[in-house]
Amino acid sequence: MTPLVTTAADVRSAVAAARAAGQWVGLVPTMGALHAGHAELVRAAKRACDFVVVSVFVNPTQFGPKEDFAKYPRTLDADRQLAADAGGDLVFAPTPAEMYPDGFVTFVEVTKLDEVLCGPRRPGHFRGVATVVLKLLNVVQPDVAVFGAKDAQQAVIIRRMVRDLDVPVAIQVEPTVREADGLAMSSRNRYLSADERAVAPKIYEALKETQARAAGGEIDVARLESGLLAAVAAIPGARVDYANILDAENLTPMTRLDRPALAAVAVFLGTTRLIDNVILG
Ligand code: AMP
Repeated sequence: MTPLVTTAADVRSAVAAARAAGQWVGLVPTMGALHAGHAELVRAAKRACDFVVVSVFVNPTQFGPKEDFAKYPRTLDADRQLAADAGGDLVFAPTPAEMYPDGFVTFVEVTKLDEVLCGPRRPGHFRGVATVVLKLLNVVQPDVAVFGAKDAQQAVIIRRMVRDLDVPVAIQVEPTVREADGLAMSSRNRYLSADERAVAPKIYEALKETQARAAGGEIDVARLESGLLAAVAAIPGARVDYANILDAENLTPMTRLDRPALAAVAVFLGTTRLIDNVILG
């Protein structure tokens, strides 16, 4: 099992010891309930660095009042085992009070990029994400921080935050790890009923169909987007939150597919909200 620390002071001294030994330091920020997708991030961090810190923190500031903060799965012992098996050297699992002590009033907002996709549907979410990630980067001070492409908007926002605020870290984004049937792995998949789980792979099928149309020469983004929306809306029991195709770097609208685009969807199956995406072009 990976050693566990719960305070910023303890993670700092462990990282200082690694640095004194000439080691490169990697960070993989997570909310725990780790699965094979997270394991890939840890492996990627371990390929790039000698000493890998996996943070496990269910960050209250990125959940809306009606979201699943209270019921989000917490599996710290299993997380420590998975982190160790993937090459993690230390798990940092702070309490909310450690991260947000009394009197905490400072937040990071990455504007514009939070006005599309999940931003307007989850008010305050990316402010919470950016704030906690900047705090983790400041505490650990890694050379490399690794994120998953599954949360594509999050990756774009963090890259931009790091660039805009001159944070001295390399951001690395790893491909989405999927179940055998294509469903993107997620800690929230365990909320799905058997019926919901059975149709959930159709989300990725819809994205792949869009990718195939684009590869086949369709460059009209409005047509691609309406095809994607129709395919996702046709999933039995699905309620589409959004299905959009945007510039992959700036998350701005596109007319023609003349540069890399992000095709991203958010879908409710019952009460569970799933997100997935692919890159077009
Ligand atoms: P989470 O704890 O699930 O909120 O996410 C922690 C990190 O793991 C984020 O950078 C996610 O993008 C990444 N991640 C989550 N699911 C996957 C997946 N299926 N494949 C790759 N990375 C993932």
